[in-house]
Amino acid sequence: MTEHKQWSSTSPSQISTFRDCARKWYRESVLGERAPSSPAAERGTRVHEQIEQWLMNGIAPTDGTARAMLRHLPPGGSVSPDHVEQSFDIAPPGWVARVRGRIDLIDPTTNQIIDHKTTATLDYAKNEQDLATDTQAIIYSAVALSGALGIEFSEPLRFVLSYGTTRGAVKTALVSRTFTRAQLSEPLARIGKEVAKQKETSSALQWSEVEPNYQSCDKYGGCFFRDDCTQAQRALIQVAEPSQAQVSSFMSALRGETSSKVIIIEDRPALKIDDELDLRGAAYEQTNPPDGLPDREPLPEDQQPARRLPRFRWNDKSLSQMKAPELIEAIHELTTIMSSQTRATYESQTAHLTRDTMSANRERLEILHKITYGITDTPKETPTMSQDDFFAAFNASAKVQEQVQEKVQEEVQEQVQEEVQEEVQEVQDIFSAHRQKAWIQAGIDGAEATAEEDIEPTSQYHTPSTILCVDALCSIGESADLLTELAPWIADIERRHNQPISLIQYDEGWKQLGARLASQKVWLFSKNIVTIESSHPLYRHCSHVLSALADITIKGTR
Ligand code: SF4
Repeated sequence: MTEHKQWSSTSPSQISTFRDCARKWYRESVLGERAPSSPAAERGTRVHEQIEQWLMNGIAPTDGTARAMLRHLPPGGSVSPDHVEQSFDIAPPGWVARVRGRIDLIDPTTNQIIDHKTTATLDYAKNEQDLATDTQAIIYSAVALSGALGIEFSEPLRFVLSYGTTRGAVKTALVSRTFTRAQLSEPLARIGKEVAKQKETSSALQWSEVEPNYQSCDKYGGCFFRDDCTQAQRALIQVAEPSQAQVSSFMSALRGETSSKVIIIEDRPALKIDDELDLRGAAYEQTNPPDGLPDREPLPEDQQPARRLPRFRWNDKSLSQMKAPELIEAIHELTTIMSSQTRATYESQTAHLTRDTMSANRERLEILHKITYGITDTPKETPTMSQDDFFAAFNASAKVQEQVQEKVQEEVQEQVQEEVQEEVQEVQDIFSAHRQKAWIQAGIDGAEATAEEDIEPTSQYHTPSTILCVDALCSIGESADLLTELAPWIADIERRHNQPISLIQYDEGWKQLGARLASQKVWLFSKNIVTIESSHPLYRHCSHVLSALADITIKGTR
């Protein structure tokens, strides 16, 4: 018999299972009996891992569903590891158990949290209305707004489900809903009551004491505990053997030996049709559980599967294939997007590397790679908060709320003023820069002569940086070589204009370009090299946009 453990923490998927069948939840979460992983769950895990690698390291997914889902996500390698798969484990005041979970993607710039979902077809996808009462949406949004993730979110926060299908041609869809603290208050209280019921159920001494829900036995490909429950049910409905007298009486009746026979037809009440019955039986066809994946709460330490460290790759090159400038570029880019906490870990682990040799840089990248995967001697701290802090915002007195609102308004006003000023300056700068636009049309070889004729350094340069667009047909892999070749030219142009030149990293299509230009107030980006895959259907479009924006364009061919 499986050992009964002390149950002390829940999660959105536990609550979902509990609603489905309390007995199933008891066996999984109290007795720790887990069904072997299904192919659908394994596929979902693979998609999650590949998306994670894309977001943090820019490693392109090989799974078709994961690849298709990228269209709704930030550019590869642009997301801090602190914003990917962030776990939380908190004790809401008044709740009888802790609540744990793991948020797939946090995007503070767009004020949203995103969960990736794989599903057989989009027919099973939730809609905006479903999210209003969805346990995962409520809990994750409340945790984010409470500050437990160590990130300030403003109200309303957007919770997003990013769906990708796993059957047939891949389809993707985004479903989202915004939440304020006030809107979360009531559903949180309701969930708190369900957690209290879980606590009560957890005190049962054996699973057979826990209420079954036979309607759920065939869902999601069939419950793992179905045989046990069927046996237990048979034991309950066993009929007592008839006595000899009963058998004789029955036989006499059949032979017509009894004088009279009254047949009473039992008057049974008509079956009540429950509105919530799944009349289409759709749930029985679905291979994935309601949340897209089985219980995604973190497993206890000793049960966690070992994480396999994939080989480090940068722009499709392994560490040994990377040249010296690429090693430096990779270190620069990966450290730029680091959080201060991760940076401290990185610095402590690379303190012994005092030189900038290729082998030292390779070692730095290996360390960075391991840190990205959470393989580090320094334990990653989960932001903690006291019980009093959690959801304190929901219970804040009106006075405190007023003070907070006033302060926020002041800050917003200041920020708006600053932004307006910056935008005005930016527009002026663009006009100024466009007046000086120079085109070097004759290819790289003729560039110097044309540049000397057409470009005159002038005091009108007010932009904090100047945009140089290298409009040359090359693939992403070749672009690093091209830039190395161009380095003396770029230095020369900078010297002539006495201005630094920004090269804008552009690797994902015009949407990202638009988003970046809109969100950045200057043309200086942390990743500042433009590369557009020339075989991409949007290449022409992108290069036209960039040429129009650039102060100087170098046109070249392969
Ligand atoms: S077999 Fe049915 S009743 Fe038994 S645990 Fe599974 S879902 Fe519940």
